[in-house]
Amino acid sequence: MDQRKILLIIFDGLGDRPVTELGHKTPLEAAPKPNLDWFAANGMNGLLDPIGPGIRPGSDTSHLALFGYDPMKVYTGRGPFEAVGVGIELEKGDVAFRCNFATVDEELTLTDRRAGRIKDGTEQLAKTLDGLKLGRVKVLFRAGTEHRAALVFRGKGLSPKVSDTDPHEEGKKILTSEPLESKGKATAKVLNTFTRKAYDLLKDHPVNRARIAKGEAPANMVVARGAGIAPELEPIAQKFGVKAAGIAGVTLIKGMFRAVGMDVLDVKGATGGLDTDMVAKAEAAIKALKSYDLVVVNIKAADLCGHDGQPSEKIKVIERIDQMMGHLKTDLGPDVIVALTADHSTPVAIKDHSGDPVPVTIFGEGIRVDEIPHFDERSVARGALGRIRGQDLMSILMDHANRTEKVGA
Ligand SMILES: [Zn+2]
Repeated sequence: MDQRKILLIIFDGLGDRPVTELGHKTPLEAAPKPNLDWFAANGMNGLLDPIGPGIRPGSDTSHLALFGYDPMKVYTGRGPFEAVGVGIELEKGDVAFRCNFATVDEELTLTDRRAGRIKDGTEQLAKTLDGLKLGRVKVLFRAGTEHRAALVFRGKGLSPKVSDTDPHEEGKKILTSEPLESKGKATAKVLNTFTRKAYDLLKDHPVNRARIAKGEAPANMVVARGAGIAPELEPIAQKFGVKAAGIAGVTLIKGMFRAVGMDVLDVKGATGGLDTDMVAKAEAAIKALKSYDLVVVNIKAADLCGHDGQPSEKIKVIERIDQMMGHLKTDLGPDVIVALTADHSTPVAIKDHSGDPVPVTIFGEGIRVDEIPHFDERSVARGALGRIRGQDLMSILMDHANRTEKVGA
C-alpha cells in the first residue's frame, strides 16, 4: 500500500454558536468561504468532540487529543508545555508554571495583570531571574510572547500540588501559594520566596525604570499559575511511526509539538496574533510535507476573536483562512491527506471555550466523499464521518494514509 502524507490544520477556537446579530448563524455559517466549502464538498465531513461530549477543552488538552493521546491520562498541567514551548528542556521531577509579567503597587496589589502588554525588554528581565538558586532549588525562567513567561523549579522532592500566586484579577493582592497536598509544602515555599525575590529584583530594573519614565506600567512582578510536572509522553514517531513537524505562532502550541517529539518549524510572520501571515504558514506546510510524514499547523486568530466577543472580526479571520485554503488547494500534492478541524469552540457570545463539537473535514485520494456542501458546524453534522472523538482523529488519518497496523490476522 502506498503510504501518504498527512496535513492536519487546526483552526484554534473556530467553532461557535448561532449569534443573534448574524441572523442566528454561526460566524462560519455567515462567512463567505468558497475554499473551505470546496474541501467540505470534496471531502468527508463530521463533528468532532475534542475531548468528549460536553467537555470544555483547553487548547493544551485538546491538542494532545488531536495528536492521538488521552489527555485525561497524560496531561499534567499547562506549565510544562509553556516551558517546553519557550525552549526549556524539562527533566524528570521538574515543576513548571506559566507566568505573566505583571504590575503591582508597593502593597503587592495587582494593578496590571499583563504589565501594559509589555513587548520589549522581557528577555532582559527574564535573565535577571533565570539561574537563581533558592535553597537547593534551581530556577529556570524564560520570557515567552509579549507578557508571557515560563518558570521551572529544578531540585529534589518538588511537587506540582501548589496553588497559584496569580490572583487572576486586578485590584487583588498577589496570592501566597499554598500546598494542595502535604507534599506540596516545600514547593509552595519556594514559589513564595521566588515571587518576593522577583519583585525585589525587577522593581528597579533598567527596563522598568525606562518604562516608568515613558509612563508605561513596569513589569515589576511575576505571577505564576498552572503548575505541572514534566509529562511522560510516548513520542509521536514511536506511537504512529511518522516523522512529524508542527507550525504555530504561540508558545504553548509549540510546546505541545515539542512535548510529543515533533519538530517545530519557525515561519517568518507566524505570530499567533491577528496579524499572523497565514499564507506563509501554508507555504511552509507544503514545503515541510516534502520531508515529513505528518505536518500540523495551528492558526490561532479565530480563537482571539472568540475570546474578545467579536463576531464580525471572527468572520474576517475566516475569510483570511479561506484565502489561505485557496492557496493550499492549488499547491497540494496528490499524495496528501488533509484534515481541517478546530481544537475547540470559542463562541463569541461566551468569550471562552465551550464543549460544543467542532467541524472536521478529511480530504484526499480515496476518501469516501459525502454530500456536504459547506464547512460549518451544522452542515457537517450530516456528514459521513458522523461524530468522532478528538483522540480518534489521528488513527483515522493514519489509516487513510495507509500507515496503520492490522489488528489480528
Ligand atoms: Zn485553543
